[in-house]
Amino acid sequence: MHRRWHAWEPGPLETVNRAFAGGRRIELPPGMLEPILRAKRLESASEGLFNPAIGRLLALWGFHASQLPSGPPPSQDAIADLLAQSPSMTDIQIENGTIGSRNPAVQMDFGAFIKGVAVERALAILEAHGLEHAIVNAGGDVGVIGSAGGAPWRVGIRHPDGAGGRILAELEAGDGEFVFTSGNYLRYREHEGIRHGHIIDPRSGYPADRVVSVTVIAEHGGTADAGATALAVAGEAEWPRIAARLGIDKVLRVDGQGRVSMTTAMRERVRLMAPQAAVSERSLPPD
Ligand code: AMP
Ligand code: MG
Repeated sequence: MHRRWHAWEPGPLETVNRAFAGGRRIELPPGMLEPILRAKRLESASEGLFNPAIGRLLALWGFHASQLPSGPPPSQDAIADLLAQSPSMTDIQIENGTIGSRNPAVQMDFGAFIKGVAVERALAILEAHGLEHAIVNAGGDVGVIGSAGGAPWRVGIRHPDGAGGRILAELEAGDGEFVFTSGNYLRYREHEGIRHGHIIDPRSGYPADRVVSVTVIAEHGGTADAGATALAVAGEAEWPRIAARLGIDKVLRVDGQGRVSMTTAMRERVRLMAPQAAVSERSLPPD
């Protein structure tokens, strides 16, 4: 999956992206259909806050490299040019086993989503081999099946203040649940003391720097992964609406001032480890 979905190294995704740029339709490489269709639905449910078609914008910010660049952010004009082309997964058409994009600016980058799908697959493989209880950890994002000796699996959420291995909270995850966190506190570029995180607000073309970290619990890894990223983009006023639209009722969010807010359903799963200045509870609107 790492090879198939790599956003900038040669491989199937990069081949499809090159076809889009050249206005060509090509045969859809095997294994890509389902994740692409899921990503289309998640883009629409998140009102475009999760938008995996913005690969060009991510490349412009220098995020298509293992080591993020230093130096000034890209020029406003370059960002505006890319935004004006409004790349979206809705531009992608799949027909009779072929794929094409009516918008040459579309470049898929599944960095916010495919790890969730990978964790689903890993758990499915374990289940197919008869394992009933397991936790799969992909760099702090996890999926679980069964239980930990009859009790829920417990997952530690790192404190976003960057101080060592401090734990902000401990969450309980039950059979078939995925716990995913998105934040701008680990991967960012810095220029003249200003940090630019790796999560981009597709509406502005600039990093969503207000939120520090969002953790969600969901029943599908792909939804948990894309959902955490979308909610890290969503503002204070709109995140409950976007969560409801994504069908995610368990959300924990830490803002730039270290304030913690969470949904009623998340509250029942959380034990906060750090004494918090402010914790508030938000209810979700009916979807
Ligand atoms: P995650 O850690 O799951 O939040 O994914 C972050 C990665 O997804 C970034 O490194 C980018 O490659 C990509 N990305 C950033 N912003 C967005 C966005 N708004 N929608 C989709 N993918 C994004
Ligand atoms: Mg994500």
